[in-house]
Amino acid sequence: MQFYSLNNHSEKADFEVATIRGQAPDKGLYFPQEIPTLPKAWIEGIAGFSREEIALKVISPYVGDSIPTRELSGIVEQTVSFDFPLVPVSEGISSLELFHGPTLAFKDVGARFMSRCLGYFVRHLNRKITVLVATSGDTGGAVANGFYGVDGVDVVILYPSGKVSSVQEWQLTSLGKNISALEVKGTFDDCQRLVKQAFTDSDLNRALFLTSANSINVARWLPQQFYYFFAYQQWADKGHPPVISVPSGNFGNICAGLLARRSGLPVAHFIAACNANDVVPAYLCSGHYQAKDAVATLSNAMDVGNPSNFVRILELFDQAFHPLKEVLSSCSISDEQTRQTIARVYDRHHYLLDPHGAVGYLALSQYLQEHPGQQGLFLETAHPVKFYDVVEPITGQQIPMPASVSSMLNQPKQSLPMEVSYQTLKQYLLSRPA
Ligand SMILES: *Cc1c(COP(=O)(O)O)cnc(C)c1O
Repeated sequence: MQFYSLNNHSEKADFEVATIRGQAPDKGLYFPQEIPTLPKAWIEGIAGFSREEIALKVISPYVGDSIPTRELSGIVEQTVSFDFPLVPVSEGISSLELFHGPTLAFKDVGARFMSRCLGYFVRHLNRKITVLVATSGDTGGAVANGFYGVDGVDVVILYPSGKVSSVQEWQLTSLGKNISALEVKGTFDDCQRLVKQAFTDSDLNRALFLTSANSINVARWLPQQFYYFFAYQQWADKGHPPVISVPSGNFGNICAGLLARRSGLPVAHFIAACNANDVVPAYLCSGHYQAKDAVATLSNAMDVGNPSNFVRILELFDQAFHPLKEVLSSCSISDEQTRQTIARVYDRHHYLLDPHGAVGYLALSQYLQEHPGQQGLFLETAHPVKFYDVVEPITGQQIPMPASVSSMLNQPKQSLPMEVSYQTLKQYLLSRPA
């Protein structure tokens, strides 16, 4: 399979090159040349397949010849080696829990898949790859964990000191081995600026093979389709496909869902559930796209003012506004509504939402009220314990720590404090053993 750049369609790459580069040289996002159609009989028989079989079937056409099937099958097996249960919550609404992975957030799937693909490619490059990332929280943990112990790949993560939650900091700093965490005395924007400068520094790029583990990378984006197939696999009433609500920030996850639907997966409708960052809801009302500065909310992994994957959604619909509106709705949920939803769902249905899932739940619940007779599910994208500082005061209950988190608490923190200085970062990177 070839991927073309959304800036210049004649700029192409196969899966391997697209994964190693992340972005096309013209800074465009990569988009698949063809979208595979899955056989109807296969989709109808989905309940009979294992998670690994489903994932391999879905991803194989995109990977093409870049990874031999036997190898890919091992990668997929490690990627989906935890549960993705569909749990009934209230009348007509279920939760697809995507937080059973090692860092308790859905980004684990993309990070695990990408890290193992890169680990495979690096074996043929005869060179070590250094993955450099700036994180405001969730991405760094998933990337650190995904790449942990992958031979030939070193990961350097920059995070703003004192500005990530304690669970997130443990996830970044407790691993060691091929994962290094730099605790930057500045903001997330400072971290991002340092990383961007490193990517454009030609000295540094001669000395090291640098790449990013950005969420726009095809190897992180495409495996997110698995969630939607796993949801349908567990959906009881196959004759009435679900409405699916996706808490959205950069719109990678929901774009993968729309791609899965294009391949033949039955989905009645998609809802992009947003917080106060309402660029897409506003676009779907007016037909006019206007990026904004991000505002901080309780569902902070969705605080994005100019979602990078939205161009992929437009491409999927050939830039046609009305066909897109048939399939996709979007709404904006306030922090106050988020808090009320966490409280109400906990009191009435004894289900504990995290702030991102709460946005997804309420958006779905509002849609179903306007469309009686339909049923749906929302993606619960993070475990509530990751946001205990928000959730616990609302419910008044302490959230038990899952074993994967409590084991981390006992590990010593391994991070290197750093001033906001590009020279310091550069020297650090150059001083590392090749
Ligand atoms: C990243 C993230 C999102 C947003 O996903 P996008 O693919 O960027 O739209 C939602 N919830 C959580 C918990 C996240 O970490």
